Amino acid sequence: VPEGPEIETIRADIEAAFVGKRITDVAISGSGARLLRRGQSPHQVASRLVDRVLSSARRRGKYLLFDLDSGDVLVAHMGMSGQLIAARPGDPALVHTRAVLRFAGGRELRFVDPRTFGEMFVSQPAQPGGDVPELAHLGIDAFDPLLTRTRLAAMLSRRKARLKSLLVDQSFLAGIGNIYADEILFAARVRPDRLATDLSSSEVGRLRKAISSVLSAALAHRGSTLVDGQYVDLNGKAGNFQLLHNVYGREGKPCPRCSAPIVRSSSGGRSSHFCARCQN
Ligand SMILES: [Zn+2]
Repeated sequence: VPEGPEIETIRADIEAAFVGKRITDVAISGSGARLLRRGQSPHQVASRLVDRVLSSARRRGKYLLFDLDSGDVLVAHMGMSGQLIAARPGDPALVHTRAVLRFAGGRELRFVDPRTFGEMFVSQPAQPGGDVPELAHLGIDAFDPLLTRTRLAAMLSRRKARLKSLLVDQSFLAGIGNIYADEILFAARVRPDRLATDLSSSEVGRLRKAISSVLSAALAHRGSTLVDGQYVDLNGKAGNFQLLHNVYGREGKPCPRCSAPIVRSSSGGRSSHFCARCQN
């Protein structure tokens, strides 16, 4: 499942390739209609996109927001297995292509999703470039510089939950999933099963720093592509931050910091990878 760094990589690629261009045609397949949310039909979505210029590409947590010159926003979420791929009309059709946005000049933006757990809908923000009501449940974005140590401390102090489940809770912090939660907690040297309310002030400080350092390193390496090969960028290329994972997917391998074997534990249906020796 792509997380903040992967979605931000795709966002920047789309900005470079498509912003400022006019959408000339929208094709949503029969199975693609399953991606549409809020009761919107393929025809309704297409009619709000065709002939509009893509004026900006934004990201909010794991969602992409495409602003149109009409003031509408096309919101997209990759779900479990969605991909956004740039193509030209002559390029071979990709199996599981659910929707195609064709732009003036001929380039296409293809939404490919084998499992159809992604979603797309058109929304209208209160003001152009503003938030959309459908995403009001999201917490502060994990990349947001307004997430200060003080603010994080206040957020943690109000929640009687374990750190791992909080970090992946999109209403607490938007944009982090299993991979980066594990990597962030390793960098901060705190265990995933610690209670948020029990962190010391220095642990909160380490957590705040780890959120920034892990996410910015992941973004610099264009995200993580796991063995399933599911996440790829706009041009179909894999990321390479997976080569720098310290704990995620490394059960039984030595901790890069202290050499103890990395353990994997499950709680509440969610597994975590961590070092039981140097994360406290
Ligand atoms: Zn260790």
